[in-house]
Amino acid sequence: MPQILDGNRVRDDIKNELRPRVAALAAQGRPPGLAVVLVGHDPASQIYVRNKVKTCQDLGIYSESLTPPDSISTGELLAIVGQLNARHDIDGILVQLPLPPQVDAKRILMAVAPAKDVDGFHPCNVGNLVANLPGPRACTPAGIIEILKRYHIPIAGKRAVVVGRSDIVGKPVAMLLLHEHATVTICHSKTPDLAAVCREAEILVAAIGRAAMLTAEFLSNGVTVIDVGTNRLDDRAEVARIFRNSAEKLASFDKRGNVLVGDVDPQDVVEKAGAYTPVPGGVGPLTIAMLMANTVASAERRAAVC
Ligand code: NDP
Repeated sequence: MPQILDGNRVRDDIKNELRPRVAALAAQGRPPGLAVVLVGHDPASQIYVRNKVKTCQDLGIYSESLTPPDSISTGELLAIVGQLNARHDIDGILVQLPLPPQVDAKRILMAVAPAKDVDGFHPCNVGNLVANLPGPRACTPAGIIEILKRYHIPIAGKRAVVVGRSDIVGKPVAMLLLHEHATVTICHSKTPDLAAVCREAEILVAAIGRAAMLTAEFLSNGVTVIDVGTNRLDDRAEVARIFRNSAEKLASFDKRGNVLVGDVDPQDVVEKAGAYTPVPGGVGPLTIAMLMANTVASAERRAAVC
């Protein structure tokens, strides 16, 4: 049986390591502060934001949610970000994506002060990542490196294949793996013979957004699989097919009306991988943990220069 890389366990360890740092900052004057801007009423975004606020409360991090309406203009949102940039008590600013179509998302992300950019999306911080200079790293990619390291999975000298080239996951995780001295290949929808490339991987990161797309033919024996995909299945026949008629999954579907699956086939990964992150309970929990870590680090840096 492969080793299960338990994201909930790593998240709890990271949170426990952050607690004394939060307490030390609070004792110096004030706890770290995170502002989350959630435009409109996208249900998935509302759940993400609620989880972020709850985790802040658990750690003693001050958090503030701003919920401007769907109709907000780029200028109005720029003004909100500008106010947060100027606030002494706010160390981290997160603008929840996606933004409504009339808002220029790139301008908004560029307006966040790089020192408070706890998502690591500002071009300055992307530059810091590429140059391997200090600065906040995008949360999901940073969480992936954390889980590999904490499970003592060697990265240096290994062949890593990343499927997906988004600015949020694929590109930054490829860069982080490179800095850890892996030999990295980035794949995407135009990559010919994807299965053959994936089979070369000793570490395979799937950040695609396609339910159970990577089946046995994409996996070499003993590969470490990091499955970033979070795909919601709302078709019972699909659940039955992908989970091989698992009574547990079908019961879960009957109760909730949907079931989560990653980008990697959940049965094939158990048969072929040496280690893997499950969905749910793998990469997902680490993303929020790394957001908290970035917020605390930002507060420490700002406290040191004040
Ligand atoms: P994007 O849609 O931005 O990027 C998907 C990437 O997958 C693209 O580069 C695309 O290629 C590639 N791709 C799509 N289809 C194929 C294919 N058939 N063959 C090869 N490559 C393909 O997604 P994100 O990076 O934002 O997210 C990826 C997944 O990770 C999603 O399921 C998302 O929900 C999940 N996610 C989970 C997080 C977590 O905390 N657990 C955090 C962030 C994301 P191309 O560029 O050529 O179009």
